[in-house]
Amino acid sequence: MSALYGTYARSELAFERGEGVRLFAQDGRRYLDFHSGIAVNALGHGDPHLVNALKAAAEKVWHTSNTFTIPEQERLGQRLVDATFADAVFFTNSGAEAVECAIKTARRYFYDKGEKDRYEIIAFTGSFHGRTLGTIAAGGNPSYLEGFGPPVEGFKHLKPGNLEAVAAAIGPRTCAILIEPVQGEGGVTAFPAEYMQGLRALCDAHGLLLVLDEVQCGYGRTGRFFAHEWSGITPDIMAVAKGIGGGFPLGACLATAEVAKSMVPGTHGSTYGGNPLASAVGNAVLDRILAPGFIAEVDRVGQLFAWHLRQLAQRFPQYVVETRGKGLLAGIKITPPVKDFVVRLRDDHQMLCIAAGDNVVRLIPPLVVTDADIEEAIGKLADAFTALDAEAAASGKA
Ligand code: PMP
Repeated sequence: MSALYGTYARSELAFERGEGVRLFAQDGRRYLDFHSGIAVNALGHGDPHLVNALKAAAEKVWHTSNTFTIPEQERLGQRLVDATFADAVFFTNSGAEAVECAIKTARRYFYDKGEKDRYEIIAFTGSFHGRTLGTIAAGGNPSYLEGFGPPVEGFKHLKPGNLEAVAAAIGPRTCAILIEPVQGEGGVTAFPAEYMQGLRALCDAHGLLLVLDEVQCGYGRTGRFFAHEWSGITPDIMAVAKGIGGGFPLGACLATAEVAKSMVPGTHGSTYGGNPLASAVGNAVLDRILAPGFIAEVDRVGQLFAWHLRQLAQRFPQYVVETRGKGLLAGIKITPPVKDFVVRLRDDHQMLCIAAGDNVVRLIPPLVVTDADIEEAIGKLADAFTALDAEAAASGKA
């Protein structure tokens, strides 16, 4: 019996060491990591540059709170501003907190303009924004809201993909549109550039803010620094986490100067957000991600991965319905029960990945994955489908 909350229904598998895209279990078995702690370990496990940055920071000052200036945080904030649409950054410890800050920033902007009733945010079904009270309301998934009392008000959920429906839903209370450019948890759905451009145009036409949740799809994962770059638009506010800390708890909310100016002393805060250790690691992650050629290489490997997945789908049409995603945020929609298939990959083929939505296998390796790793993963997926065939034949179903 574990002393922990029963929230995770998790595996007993525990790892004691990691190296690049490999994780080594306590029993000595070696796993290929196409899970990355849910798209977090952007640089894989044990990256020496990150390890050294953390060690060096740990020798200095661990924590001071945001009462004082944190030089590493200032530097990380400036670098993010230099590399993106944003003019200002608020650091958090997690993705949900980054989205919370994004929602508060959007609402406070209109409040300060005297539009106090303009707080409603249009969001989308199939999205995931976190598990705090605000972010479960933003995500709108009824099963995550159940039993937790009245949901935070002011979210309207639409099925994604239809611009007319968004236009029709905009009313006098609407302040923002909130979307993941690639839905991760919901099933690895990458929205077309035209759709993202259409949302930007609707925001501009109605004076709304475009808020992007790039917690999962950002930080190089799709083959651009941020996924919205594929559509040539920029948001007003953006939530970031996961890859930004490479495994250290770190998130950020980025905003334009116009919007961020409402977040004055007293409006928001965090004891730990962007603390010296997290910011030092964040800077080390950024050194690697923004090094010349790094993201272009993610783009190349991501395209190779997509090609291999399409081949796999052709080889196993009885199991693979569709290939999905963008770059190294990839998925295959399958007919066998997805949770069982993920367990099978883990236990029989020593490959780690994670389900998304009801029937999608999400494949989210560290961004440092090589061609050979991709081929190994495809081989393991093929072996797992072949084993399913053999079992079906043995039970007389084939
Ligand atoms: N937004 C998105 C798009 C996510 O994928 C996640 C986490 N899977 C979150 C927000 C919440 O992040 P966290 O678990 O760090 O709170």
